[in-house]
Amino acid sequence: CGIVGAVSTRNIVPVLVQGLQRLEYRGYDSCGVAVWSDGLRRTRSTSRVAELLTQVATDDVQGVTGIAHTRWATHGAPAVHNAHPHFSHGPGAEPQRAARVALVHNGIIENHDELRAALQARGYVFASQTDTEVIAHLIDSLYDGDLLDAVRAALVQLHGAYAIAVFHKDEPHRVIGARAGSPLILGVGATQGEGAGENFLASDAMALAGVTDQIVYLEEGDVVDVQLGRYWVLGRDDQGGYQPVTRPVRTV
Ligand code: GLU
Repeated sequence: CGIVGAVSTRNIVPVLVQGLQRLEYRGYDSCGVAVWSDGLRRTRSTSRVAELLTQVATDDVQGVTGIAHTRWATHGAPAVHNAHPHFSHGPGAEPQRAARVALVHNGIIENHDELRAALQARGYVFASQTDTEVIAHLIDSLYDGDLLDAVRAALVQLHGAYAIAVFHKDEPHRVIGARAGSPLILGVGATQGEGAGENFLASDAMALAGVTDQIVYLEEGDVVDVQLGRYWVLGRDDQGGYQPVTRPVRTV
């Protein structure tokens, strides 16, 4: 199972899918990719990652910002509707409503039942049997114009293990990542040339081979705000809050 994410200025789907191929060695039962291009779009599959390459072309999934995932199911059968990325369309059930939040997750959320019940009581309609989908709706329910704030407020309610990457339709050049109990690294992209200013998230540095060798190893509890040409890392403090921290960039 694995995660790849990117904020770029070029169509980043080929990089995301190649990244997933480099994470195939971890094992998986399904895979998917979501992008922003004038709204959120996604495609998901229970076949090999190679199939996704055909599917992104058929479904016309391309965009400058995106997240991708290989899933090893823990909650909910291996099936397309349980594959990540998961969307939140906000409370209410109108099926044509545009998606607002797209999220991928590795790990297990222990208190997903309570969180799901609370979100359902507020009108959220669930489209999967995963523990992961609660995180997407929780972040949506806490969103008030700043994705980092919403993610931080959501994380303190989660019990369990996670690496996540998430983005919001209203902030299309921003991906927030976080890790606690599952691996996640930041890849700092080139400042010049194709995709100048792009930055990445991935489960390990190998996923970004050939894309960047400038890696920031996130520490347990870290949250990272990934934007074009810049990023910020926040670490957990003793009170359970978040403080800006400096993590070294290493050449791998
Ligand atoms: N628990 C999540 C699910 O079953 C994530 C599994 C994973 O780490 O891939 O969808």
